[in-house]
Amino acid sequence: MTSQTLTIGHWIDGASVASQSGRTAPVYDPARGVETTRVALADHAEIDAAIVSAAKAFPDWRDLSIARRQMIVFRFRELLYERKKELAEIVTGEHGKVVSDALGEIQRGLEVVELATGFPHLIKGGYSENVSTGVDVYSLKQPLGVVGIISPFNFPVMVPMWFFPIAIAAGNTVVLKPSEKDPSAAIWIAQLWKEAGLPDGVFNVLQGDKEAVDGLLKHPEVQSISFVGSTPIAQYIYETASKNGKRVQALGGAKNHMLVLPDADLDLVADSAVNAGFGAAGERCMAISVVLAVEPVAGELIEKITNRIAKLRIGNGSSENEPDMGPLISEAHRDRVASYVDIAEADGARVVVDGRGYTVDGHEEGFFFGPTLLDVVPTTSRAYTEEIFGPVLSIVRVKTYEEGLALINSGEFGNGTAIFTNDGGAARRFQNEVQVGMIGINVPIPVPVAYHSFGGWKKSLFGDAKAYGVHGFDFFTREKAVTSRWLDPASHGGINLGFPQN
Ligand code: NAD
Repeated sequence: MTSQTLTIGHWIDGASVASQSGRTAPVYDPARGVETTRVALADHAEIDAAIVSAAKAFPDWRDLSIARRQMIVFRFRELLYERKKELAEIVTGEHGKVVSDALGEIQRGLEVVELATGFPHLIKGGYSENVSTGVDVYSLKQPLGVVGIISPFNFPVMVPMWFFPIAIAAGNTVVLKPSEKDPSAAIWIAQLWKEAGLPDGVFNVLQGDKEAVDGLLKHPEVQSISFVGSTPIAQYIYETASKNGKRVQALGGAKNHMLVLPDADLDLVADSAVNAGFGAAGERCMAISVVLAVEPVAGELIEKITNRIAKLRIGNGSSENEPDMGPLISEAHRDRVASYVDIAEADGARVVVDGRGYTVDGHEEGFFFGPTLLDVVPTTSRAYTEEIFGPVLSIVRVKTYEEGLALINSGEFGNGTAIFTNDGGAARRFQNEVQVGMIGINVPIPVPVAYHSFGGWKKSLFGDAKAYGVHGFDFFTREKAVTSRWLDPASHGGINLGFPQN
């Protein structure tokens, strides 16, 4: 890092703002393992400035006509579509995922922007004429005001886009607190909103750590919190934001199982397990981390997966000859992933493919971890029960469908799962019996499209509000019911202290 490198600052009131807090955190290029820049960590005054900017912008934005708001969201969609490659390269530079995968996450975010362009239909209220003689009742869906969004490092574009296009379209103003590990995408997005004509103050970016998060959780002007991250923090966010009277949706971690029945197409299963286990180096909340093989398929499946792993190319996600998989986010995280493989091995698992100590030529300092395959992982091992969030796929052998299902349902998470089978009856039974929020049937990463909603069960989602889809519009609007009567002299009812009846 050179002394000239600018610290990444905030975006407040339509302009970039250098931090005065004196606190910063390093930002790395994970493929090279070098600090490339630093990011500001907001202090109290900066937190306040971002929230005040959003609060100031709210009344005018709320009252701007639906047609004008819609035009701006459409323009944002067009600009993002045209320039997504630029954004993908920024994501790869700080996160490490390969550029085509970064483009994939942008595409899934774009889907929500596209949904948001149709917002007028989704914030319409209802109208009942003549509920009593001459009396009408109608409901309005109004924006909340200033909304806070706190996002994780693993999807610096897609996860914020699960929320802000809908929040903004519905008439709210936003303070986004991105992950301090890959903070640049949020600033690029803020600039794009400005180009699209969004008024200053409607979309703000506050860089920071726990201090910024706590500032959003406690500030009386912030009406709601949308959080995505690890389970312990999601629980903290849910409890603290609720205690402070805010509406909150908090999505947590995961441990996603793929149940493979003996009649499944094992080539499809092996392709899917490798794609869903090692894509983005396993740093996806919907990654498959456990394959439950209903015997006798485990042996054949392990051979097929091992053959596929041998062909994977690992390297710098920005290189011209794009590899299949990039590095992990940080050195500390790489060591943590390695420690889980140590634990599994000590607990009796067989390490079939070992990614520990993996290096890439010319990138010896990069935070790489090779694809790892574990067999006969004991279900009592922490390597089985906890989220590893790296390229580590565990095989657990079970004798029956029921044994596999019971294992999935006994876990503390309930984000995603998949069943691989050619038996429609078994698949139907699985979708009914499994206690998980998002289910794939011969589909390994069942992230719902934008017009359905995203959210897990159990410790993968605190609260009852999922991300995007109809849930998103419900979350970012508050309903008002109006009972109205326009009097003519003949219909005046006189004094009546009884409870109004129809
Ligand atoms: P994280 O929980 O460490 O951080 C998420 C956000 O919380 C960041 O903005 C961070 O600055 C902030 N934060 C961290 N520690 C905090 C604290 N003590 N107090 C207040 N705020 C704090 O998560 P991460 O490592 O960035 O992301 C990976 C995790 O996110 C994984 O567990 C993954 O499963 C989960 N995730 C879940 C989903 C989902 O949809 N359920 C999607 C993506 C990621």
